Amino acid sequence: MNQTVKELQSQFKQLRLVETAEELPRLLREAEQVSWTYLELLEAITHFELNKREEKSIERRMKWAKFPYHKTLMEFQVKEQNALSERQLTQLQELNWLEQQYNLILLGPPGVGKTHLSVGLGIEAIQKGFQVYFVTMGELLHLLKTQEFTHKSQVQIKRLQASDLVIIDDLMYMAMDQREANLFFQVINHLYERSSIILTSNKSPEEWGELMGDEGITTAILDRLLHRVEVVSMNGDSYRMKNRQNLF
Ligand code: ADP
Ligand code: MG
Repeated sequence: MNQTVKELQSQFKQLRLVETAEELPRLLREAEQVSWTYLELLEAITHFELNKREEKSIERRMKWAKFPYHKTLMEFQVKEQNALSERQLTQLQELNWLEQQYNLILLGPPGVGKTHLSVGLGIEAIQKGFQVYFVTMGELLHLLKTQEFTHKSQVQIKRLQASDLVIIDDLMYMAMDQREANLFFQVINHLYERSSIILTSNKSPEEWGELMGDEGITTAILDRLLHRVEVVSMNGDSYRMKNRQNLF
């Protein structure tokens, strides 16, 4: 390779344009082959770097989100359920609710697609530039209770607090004690009017009170969650049961 190109590559690296540095010989070859103008070459270089950065940023945010699995809205079959019409799904996909800090509550028995839908929306949000954090209620309580003495938990809670969309999966699969309800309130209060929350639960909000014990805290949590909210009731047959493979 030409010495000047090597020098240029190292200068690109110094300027922290690492991806472009690697790609420079190819870009220059192409420029020669199809006789790009100077402007076209410069444009190709900046496009390349910006696209790479965008890709990397999406990758980073995907990791940060910690989804339990990768399932997109494309894979969510509207015909397999009756809670959302094609139009409603498209509306959710447009993410206006997220831009306006609305919360979503997805209710329904196991297997109806609550987690899939929340992950699909999360992936969509990441692709549109938002920061997303996925956590189950069980994990969240664990993180909250250990953050005082575990650096790892502290980091995770910080990420959650810095996210535009927080998905809390399986909200009320277990009863909380007073301390847990308090910690949970603090999270909701922090996120209130700052981020959107997607909650999934197999119990309706009327039943949440019982599980949180303390009526005052329950009211305070519900006030914030339900202030700006869209509730999607996903009742129907379990997709898992309908599509399971029969052994016999
Ligand atoms: P839950 O409501 O218990 O959270 P999940 O979202 O985990 O259920 O769905 C269970 C399984 O069924 C997942 O593998 C999910 O991808 C699939 N599933 C559920 N609903 C649909 C749907 N409408 N279209 C495609 N797959 C679905
Ligand atoms: Mg689930």
